[in-house]
Amino acid sequence: MYEHYPTPDISREYKNYLYSSLWHYAKQDLRLLGFFLVIAGLIGFGIGYLILCLSLAVVLCIALRLHALYLINEWISHRPYDMPPNVPGLCGALAFNIYRAQRKERVVQANMVTLIDRAQSSLFALAEAVVITDELHQIEWWNPASEHLLGIKQQDKHNNLLGILRQPAFVEYFHNMEQHPDGIKIKSSVFEGHHVQIKLTRFGTESRLLVAYDITRVHNLEQMRKDFVDNISHELRTPLTVLSGYLETFTDQDNFNPKWQRAFDQMQSQTRRMNALVNDLLLLSRLENDRKTAKNQIVDMPALMNQLFDDAQAYNSEYGHMLNLDIDSHSDLIGSDMELASAFGNLITNAIKYTPKGSGTITIGWHDDQENGYFTVQDNGIGIDLKHLPRLTERFYRVDSARSRQTGGTGLGLAIVKHVLMQHGAYLEIESQVNQGSCFKAIFPKDRLCQNEN
Ligand code: ADP
Repeated sequence: MYEHYPTPDISREYKNYLYSSLWHYAKQDLRLLGFFLVIAGLIGFGIGYLILCLSLAVVLCIALRLHALYLINEWISHRPYDMPPNVPGLCGALAFNIYRAQRKERVVQANMVTLIDRAQSSLFALAEAVVITDELHQIEWWNPASEHLLGIKQQDKHNNLLGILRQPAFVEYFHNMEQHPDGIKIKSSVFEGHHVQIKLTRFGTESRLLVAYDITRVHNLEQMRKDFVDNISHELRTPLTVLSGYLETFTDQDNFNPKWQRAFDQMQSQTRRMNALVNDLLLLSRLENDRKTAKNQIVDMPALMNQLFDDAQAYNSEYGHMLNLDIDSHSDLIGSDMELASAFGNLITNAIKYTPKGSGTITIGWHDDQENGYFTVQDNGIGIDLKHLPRLTERFYRVDSARSRQTGGTGLGLAIVKHVLMQHGAYLEIESQVNQGSCFKAIFPKDRLCQNEN
C-alpha cells in the first residue's frame, strides 16, 4: 500500500552535495581554529607563554564546539520540529542534515497518514462490513457497517470475534476456511429475517480479514424460486399419478385396440419421464433446503456396492456392456444410505447410458488410502469435452440435450450427486476424454470412513 510513497533515497548527487557541504563547514571550523591559534600565538609570543596561549586557544575552540553540540542536543530533545540552532562549522552541518532528513521523513509520514486516512474513510463509507482480527482472533479494527450488520460494538475491541459471532456455522467456517472458498451465508443476529454472506481471508500469520454483506434480497428471491419449484413439483404429482393410473388401466384391458398401442406407449414413457423429473426436483429441493450434514448411519459398503452392482446389471440388460465390481477397501462410510445409494446409482446409470450399446466396459470401484475414501465409476463411453466439466453439476446442464432426453435423463442427476456429496463433506472429481470415456470419482474425507468388521 505504501509503495507509492517510497522512503527518500539518498542519490549519488545528494551524497556529493553532502560531502562538498561538509568540507565547506569543516573549512569554517579550521578557519576559526586557525584564527584562535594566530591570535594566541601573537599574544603568547608577546608575553612569553607561547605554548600556554596556544593550548588555551585549542581549549577555547573545543569549548565552543561542545557548546554547539549542547545546543543541538537541546534542539533535538525539546524542539525537534523547530528550525535547528544557528551554529557554525561541522556541528551546524550536522544540525542542518538532521533537520533536512527529518523534514523528508515528515513528508513521507504525512503522505502515509493521508493514504491511510483515505483508505480508512473509504472503508468507513462501505456498505459492506469489514473487520480485522489479530493472531488471537481478537477484533483489532472494524467499520461502522459491521455494527449494523454483525452487531459489533465499541466495547468489543480486543474481544474474541468468535465470542460475538457465535453461530456454529460461522465457528466451523472460521476454523476450516479452506473448505468454503466462497464463504458462508448466515442469519443476521442483529436483524430478524436478514441474511449475511461472510468471507474470511487469512493474512500475516494468523490474522484474518472479514468482509460481510447483506444478501437478504437475493436470499428471498432464491427461496421464492425454491418454493415455486417445490410447490409445482408437488402439484404435478397428483395429476401424473392419475394419468399413469388411467394409462395402465386402458392398456391392460382385453378389448384394447392395438392401433392405439404406439400412442399409449409414448404417453406412458412420457409420463414416466415427467414422474422421474418431478421426483428428482423434489429430491433436489429437499437436499437444498436441508443443508444439514448427512446422518451418521454406518453404511455397509460391501453390501451397498453389491446392491448397486445388481441394479446396474438389471439396467444394463438393454445396453449389453461388461460390468466390473472392484472393492479394495475395508472401510465403510458414515452417512445417509438412501442418499448415497441414489447418488452412486446416478453415476452408474450415467456411465451405462452414455456408453454406446454393446461396446462398453464399466467398472464400479470402492477403495481408500490414508487420507480419503474413493467411490469411482469408470466407463469407456462417449466422454465429455473439457470445456463442459466445470458446469456439469449445474441443474439441467447437458452436453447434448437431444441424447440426454433420448436416454430418459432429467438433467438433474449430477446436481443431486453434488448435493449429496456436499452433505457428506465429500466432492466429485471428473476426468474425461471425448470418445475415450470418463471417470467419476466421489472423494470422501477420512472422518466419514470407519473400518468394517469383515
Ligand atoms: P442427465 O439426466 O441428462 O443424464 P446428469 O446431470 O446426470 O443429467 O448429467 C449431466 C450431463 O452430463 C449429461 O446430460 C451428459 O451430457 C453428461 N454426462 C454425465 N455422465 C456422463 C458419462 N458417464 N459420460 C458422458 N457424459 C456424461
